[in-house]
This record gives sequence, C-alpha cells and structure tokens, in this order.
Amino acid sequence: MKRRDFVKKIGLGGLATGGLLGAAPSHAAKRVNWKMVTTWPPNFPIFQDGVERFAKDVRAMSGGKMSIHTFAAGELIPAMQSFDAVSQGTVEMGHGAAYYWAGKIPAAQFFTAVPFGMNAQGMNAWLTSGGGLELWHEVYAPHGLIAFPMGNTGVQMGGWFRKKINALADLKGIKMRIPGLGGKVIAKAGVNPVLLAGGEIYTALERGTIDATEWVGPYHDMRLGLHRAAKYYYYPGWQEPGPTLELSINLKAWNELPRDLQLIVQTAAAASNAWMGAEFQARNIESLRSLRDDKKIEILPFPDDVLRGLRGFTQETLDELAEKDALFKKVYNAYRKFSAGNEDWNAISEVAYARTFTL
Ligand code: CA
Repeated sequence: MKRRDFVKKIGLGGLATGGLLGAAPSHAAKRVNWKMVTTWPPNFPIFQDGVERFAKDVRAMSGGKMSIHTFAAGELIPAMQSFDAVSQGTVEMGHGAAYYWAGKIPAAQFFTAVPFGMNAQGMNAWLTSGGGLELWHEVYAPHGLIAFPMGNTGVQMGGWFRKKINALADLKGIKMRIPGLGGKVIAKAGVNPVLLAGGEIYTALERGTIDATEWVGPYHDMRLGLHRAAKYYYYPGWQEPGPTLELSINLKAWNELPRDLQLIVQTAAAASNAWMGAEFQARNIESLRSLRDDKKIEILPFPDDVLRGLRGFTQETLDELAEKDALFKKVYNAYRKFSAGNEDWNAISEVAYARTFTL
C-alpha cells in the first residue's frame, strides 16, 4: 500500500499517537464479509435472536472490519444442509446443534446433550475448562470444521402428554414426538418415537395423531400453543438436560482469519452463549408463572420409576453406540469421567442448595 493511501486510511488522529506502523497490517487488512446459516426458522425467539446479536457484536467490536450476513433456515439453504455448507466452505459459519449431525458423526451428540447427561453449567465447565472443547475440535477437524459453544437452553421440560403417566408401563404404545437419542432410549420403554418439525407439532397433538411431544421449555412450548393441546406437562427434561448450541466455522476460513478477528468472534460467541442462557432462564420463569395459573393443565414430575427405567435404557443405548464407533467411545469415556465428578460435586453444591428452597 502506498504511504499516502495508508495515511488516508488510518487518518491523522492515528498518526499522532505514534507507533502505529506496527499495527498497519491489521488496519490495512481488507474487510471480511462472511455468510452464516442457521438451523432455526426466521425470528425463532432466543435461538435466532442470539445469532443476530452475535453478528451485530462482531461488526461493532471489529469497527466494521468484519461483517457476518445471517440467514435463517431455508433463506439460503435448508436447515439440515448447513453442516455440509459450512464444511465445504459454501458459507463460512453456521449455528445449530451438534447432535443434528449424529448420522455423520455419532460422537457429536456429546457436544450438545445426551439423556441424563450434564446440564448447562456442567457442559460449559466441560467445554471451557475440562478438555471438552479440544475434543470437539479434534472430532470436527476431519470435516473441515471448528466449533464453539454459543447458547444453551438449560434443562428442558419432559413434554406434554394427553394421558397421565403413573408408571413405566404406561409409556407402552404411546406415539411421541421426540428426536435423537431421547427417541432411541424411550423406544426401549415401548414408545413409538416420531419426528415432526416444530410447525407440525401443535396440530398433531391437538388432533391426537400423536399422544405426547417434547419441545423446549415453558416459553417456547407456550408459543407453539402446546398447553392448549394436552393436559399433562411433565418434568424434568431427562432427554435434553442442557443442550449446547454450536457456532460452527469452516476451518480453512478460520485459519485464514487474522488473530484479532478470531478473538472478536470467540468473545462475541461467548457473550452470546451467556446471553442465550440468561434469556431461556428469564423467559421460562415468566411463562411458568402463567402456566401455573392455568387451571386446565397439570404440571407433574415423572414418577421415579419412569426416570429410573429411562436412565437404565440410556446406559444401554450409549453402551451399544460405543460398541459400534471408536470415536463415540473415546468422547463417551471423556464425557463420562467429567460428568461423574460433576454429579459428585453438584450433589453437595447445587442440588444440596436447591433442597433448601422447600424446607
Ligand atoms: Ca427438545
């Protein structure tokens, strides 16, 4: 770059501070324009909001040097093609959940949630400070991807049921919308798990095409109107105890990104991770309050017998998958080790403390 162009670009104010020439490559670097696709419908509250917030933060923090143009599911490509789009570099970034890619990478499920696994606090600790993120990067690298945690729903709800569940045997023959590992586990209890997109759930439940469904939590479930389609709302969401959402990035594009912009992306993702977690908590608190006031519905805990049975089926399911896939086994072992310690510490911290609420 010619000197006068450089002077023009950084402005006189910059020159007056001196020592700026060292910073020239970064200041002179060309603007970065990236595309980001998500697996969420347009305006999907919290999920898509968090993504747009992230893009806005990156632009502001980089002083406009980096712009990320976000596309909700279907606006550029269908939701479930976003993995390939980011992996192949058609777009540079994606947002979704690693367990959506279980068909390609069974081990990826541990980076979102597994039934009876860790909650948001545990997942954040494992990923940030327990070696989880390094493992995630190792699993994604052969696919030309790198990922960072960006959002967590917190413990979900067990779901809406049209009839009361008093024992494990009551699950037999039920048709329930429940995807992923949760579906595989509950099938062992005789449930017929079905896959339905968000937009199809209310009608199916209201008409009795399905007998039960899980979705997210009070806030998102009420927005779908599920409280008007079934009477019994069960907790806790054993199937998804704290799903981590992912920011996925094309590895080549990431490696070519200047260090300052890499840090901005990571910092904005971490901010969005915290923001989404807080939003889920705050909105669920409000929505639960209105559900408690609704005399037409009952909010009930799953009986211990049901949870004990499902926990056993989860163990079986994870062991079967570990037999079939060496990478799954490797991540499972690391996850299990951290999770066991997490449960031990939680028992005398979070759980013991929560018990005081009802004394
Ligand atoms: Ca769910």
